[in-house]
Amino acid sequence: MNIHEYQAKEILRAHGIPVPPGEVATSPEEAEAIASKYGGPVVVKAQVHTGGRGKAGGVKLADDAADAAEKAAAILGMEIKGLTVEKVLVTPAEEIASEAYVGIVMDRASQADVFMVSSEGGVDIEEVAASQPEAITKLRVDPRYGLLPHQAMGLAWALYDDVKQVRQAASIIRKLHEAYRAAGATLAEINPLIVTPEGEVKAIDAKMNIDDNVLFRVPDVEAMRDTSAEPPAETKARDAGLSYIKLDGDVGCVVNGAGLAMATMDMVKHYGGEPANFLDIGGSSNPDKVVTALEIITADPRVKSILFNIFGGITRCDDVANGIVEATNRIEIDRPIAIRLTGTNEEEAVEILKQAGFAAMTDMDEVVKEAVSLAHGGSD
Ligand code: GDP
Ligand code: MN
Repeated sequence: MNIHEYQAKEILRAHGIPVPPGEVATSPEEAEAIASKYGGPVVVKAQVHTGGRGKAGGVKLADDAADAAEKAAAILGMEIKGLTVEKVLVTPAEEIASEAYVGIVMDRASQADVFMVSSEGGVDIEEVAASQPEAITKLRVDPRYGLLPHQAMGLAWALYDDVKQVRQAASIIRKLHEAYRAAGATLAEINPLIVTPEGEVKAIDAKMNIDDNVLFRVPDVEAMRDTSAEPPAETKARDAGLSYIKLDGDVGCVVNGAGLAMATMDMVKHYGGEPANFLDIGGSSNPDKVVTALEIITADPRVKSILFNIFGGITRCDDVANGIVEATNRIEIDRPIAIRLTGTNEEEAVEILKQAGFAAMTDMDEVVKEAVSLAHGGSD
């Protein structure tokens, strides 16, 4: 799950990291009111689930409250990497003497959390990583011991020469690790971590991604979910208990079981097609899930054919068949469907489908070939 900068900052603040104050506005008037409370110059920042906002014009300095209203009007409604800006963060502008980067990420290759820090922080960190990787210091956190105090100091010395700044940065690095662990994050980044002209080290941007699988134990973080900022299909799928991931192809797939779903996608590719999605309807017998699955898939204009691949075990084939029939009654499905059902209550399922005018197959290769051919207009 992605959260916004202002939410990540709340988490960092709660763990004692120095973060300037800030409030969220959804209109220029609100932005103006917040800015006038702070007095002086502010920064108006687009709250969208992507980085690179500064370069896209989504982060603007405003001299005063009236200017903040103008900047908010310019940013609200703006599109950044395909996402519409619905909210802005208004925060007092900081004076910046230097910008550093501090990040921690769950790294599969290392099987551990890995810290990355660089004194070359700011908007061009990706470029730094590509052109001068030696400017980035990495540290694998041994899961047996956690981040040890001397390691935090070592990372901080890679950022600053001044021992006062190093101590502040080491404390921030330790707290960032705590915040990351407590929130169940897979990524936590401060970019930039700034030093002010007075020598204070603080976080003026923050990004966190949360592991979906731990949300149940962090209800405060789960409550930060912003469904207005995520693709509607994902929200709908999650609410219905479906695992859904949109892809770029044109064969819409409805499968039960994650393993079978992966194998089905492989076979679609094997026979020359491209899957439009990963979709696992799970192991339960619930026709409603099938209806929702079909609603989600048919809402994707790229989908040219729909492939059902159901291996009936706990999932009953007749329930899936009923779901397909019910979906065609409730919504118009204007794309061809290829169905394969095998296993529990297969005969009943085939009968239900036949009465509704659908053919069902039992062979996986055959049905995948059929779905790919239908996506290509039935020509191969
Ligand atoms: P991002 O582009 O999405 O990463 O957004 P950031 O919050 O990191 O802002 C981008 C850049 O805008 C920063 O690297 C700073 O150079 C600048 N910036 C952001 N906030 C302030 C601020 O309070 N004062 C000043 N002077 N510059 C800021
Ligand atoms: Mn940033």
